[in-house]
Amino acid sequence: MPSNAPRARANRPPRLSLPPSLLTPSTLARRVEVVAGRLQRVSFMVRSLREAAINALQQYEQLLDGEATCRGCGCTESRACPGGCYWVEDPKHLGDLCSACVPGKAVRHAR
Ligand SMILES: [Zn+2]
Ligand SMILES: [Zn+2]
Repeated sequence: MPSNAPRARANRPPRLSLPPSLLTPSTLARRVEVVAGRLQRVSFMVRSLREAAINALQQYEQLLDGEATCRGCGCTESRACPGGCYWVEDPKHLGDLCSACVPGKAVRHAR
């Protein structure tokens, strides 16, 4: 089978370059929009990576402190979820889990 099969190009983003004759203000604006959209996606990825790293670090620090930490949301004995939570048995037995992270258990607080 030839290695340069056409389907390998299917995922490539559309080309941004246009012939000068097509560079009207509206096509320029469209190009700016496309680039801005890509930048937004990248910054979103960076942001969620950063949040994940901070979250992991916080959980690690709490582990070092020896305090029980919910594996779902990272709340602890001294820092419960907003509205309060309590420890429940983890159905999968992977670690500590609080009531806010177990669907169905949290209903107990709802009216
Ligand atoms: Zn939780
Ligand atoms: Zn909690």
